[in-house]
Parts: sequence; C-alpha cells; structure tokens
Amino acid sequence: MTIPVHCFMCGKIVSNTWEAYLGLLQAKYTEEDALDALGLKQYCCRHMLLAYMDLIEKLLNYAPLEK
Ligand SMILES: [Zn+2]
Repeated sequence: MTIPVHCFMCGKIVSNTWEAYLGLLQAKYTEEDALDALGLKQYCCRHMLLAYMDLIEKLLNYAPLEK
C-alpha cells in the first residue's frame, strides 16, 4: 500500500512528505524532529506518517495473476 495522499482527519496533503521523512530518519533525525522539520505540527498529520507501514514491496511478492 502507498501512503494516503491526504490526512484522514484534517485533509492536509501528507504523501509528498513521505520520501523526505525517510531521508531525515536516515540522517539520524528522531521521528519528532523529522516531523517538526517537515512542518507537520498537528497530531492527526503526524499520526499519518508515524503509523504508516510501507507494505507495497511485500505485497509484490504475491502476484495473483501469475498461475
Ligand atoms: Zn491532519
């Protein structure tokens, strides 16, 4: 699954921050500092990135059309 485009609660666009968020975490930012640097101040938007699990690579292992 890909990250949702909008925050479910307030509607702010959050999908454009996912790659930058991962980059900041790679640069040894804490989750809190990374979210602050991306300008995600509201709890609802922070939750969208903190709780998201990038499962698309795992799902691609199961190709239902190849039988
Ligand atoms: Zn929000």
